Amino acid sequence: MNWIEFEENVDLSKFCTIKIGGTAKKVYFPKNQQEIIDLIKLSLDIDKRFFPIGIGSNTVFSDGILEHIFVSTKNLKKYEITEKEGFFYIKAQAGVSFRIINSIVKKYNLEGFENLSGIPATIGGAVVMNAGAFGSEIADIIHEVVWIDKKGNIHKLKRKEIDFRYRYSPFQKNGFIFEATIKLKPSDKNIAQIIKKHLEERNKKQPLNLPTSGSTFKNPPNYAAGYLLEKAGLKGYRIGNVAFSDKHANFLINFGGGRFKELKELIQTAERRIGELYKIKLEREIEIVE
Ligand SMILES: Cc1cc2nc3c(=O)[nH]c(=O)nc-3n(C[C@H](O)[C@H](O)[C@H](O)COP(=O)(O)OP(=O)(O)OC[C@H]3O[C@@H](n4cnc5c(N)ncnc54)[C@H](O)[C@@H]3O)c2cc1C
Repeated sequence: MNWIEFEENVDLSKFCTIKIGGTAKKVYFPKNQQEIIDLIKLSLDIDKRFFPIGIGSNTVFSDGILEHIFVSTKNLKKYEITEKEGFFYIKAQAGVSFRIINSIVKKYNLEGFENLSGIPATIGGAVVMNAGAFGSEIADIIHEVVWIDKKGNIHKLKRKEIDFRYRYSPFQKNGFIFEATIKLKPSDKNIAQIIKKHLEERNKKQPLNLPTSGSTFKNPPNYAAGYLLEKAGLKGYRIGNVAFSDKHANFLINFGGGRFKELKELIQTAERRIGELYKIKLEREIEIVE
C-alpha cells in the first residue's frame, strides 16, 4: 500500500456536528479511488471496521480510543458541471458539500435541489442516508453513483439500479460512495428565493445555534418522532450537558462539554419511554460509532 495522508490521535468531536466523541487512533484522508481501495483492503487484512466520515452531521462517536479505519472525504472535493439536452449534470466527489451545490444551483437557477438546500451534508453522506426534506429526497435527483464495494470493486450504478427508501440506501455500512451525479433542470422560479425561505424555516424550527446531530430518530409510520418525544415529556429533557432541544424535540443538542454517556442515556431513555407509552419501537437515524 502506498502512503496515504493521515492524522494520528485525532479528536473525533471535531469530526461530527454535535461535537462529542473520543479519540481516533488514525483518520485517513484519501485523494483518489486507489487510496480508498487500499484502505478497504487494509480494513479487511487487519479485521477493523471501515468507517467513512463526511461532515459528521448524522454521526456520533463514543468516548475512549477508537481503532476503526476512519476515512474522511475531506480531500475528495472535485466536481464538474455539464449541460446536455436541457439538463444540468453535477458530478461531485463524495466530500463536496451541499453548500457548494447550493451555490451552483443558485448561479444557474436550477430546479430539483432547493428542498434539500439547508441540510448540512456532503454528497457522499447524503446519498448513503438518502437525505431529504420538504417532501424531497436526494434519490429524486440522482442520475448515477460511483460506489466502491466492501471488497474494493468499483461499480457505476444508474438511479434505477439503487433501492433508495426513507432515510435508507443499500450503501449503509457497505463500502464507499466515491462520486455521485445529480441531474437538475433550469427553472422558471426564483430558486435563490426558495432556498432562502427554506433556510429561514429551518432557523425558526431547529436549534441551529448549538452543536446538534439533527434528527435523532426516524419518523415511525404515521407519526413524527418529534411529536412522540414531546408528548412523552422529553422536549427539553437534559442529562448533564446534552438535551433533547426545547425547540425541536427530535434534535439532540450539546450545551458544551457534553459527554457521550449523557447522549446515550438520553437516547435509551427516549427509546424506552416511547416503547412503554405507545408500543412504538423508535429507529435511530443518527449513527453511533462505538
Ligand atoms: C442541523 C441539522 C439538520 C439536519 N437536517 C436534515 C434533514 O432535513 N434531512 C435529512 O435527511 N438529514 C438531516 N440532517 C442529518 C444529516 O445532515 C444528513 O444525514 C446528511 O446526509 C449527513 O451527511 P454527512 O456528510 O454529514 O454524513 P456523515 O454524518 O459524515 O455520515 C453519515 C453516514 O454515511 C456514511 N458515509 C459518509 N460519507 C460516505 C461515503 N462517501 N461513502 C460511504 N459512506 C459514507 C458514514 O459512515 C455514516 O454512516 C441534519 C443534521 C443536522 C445537524
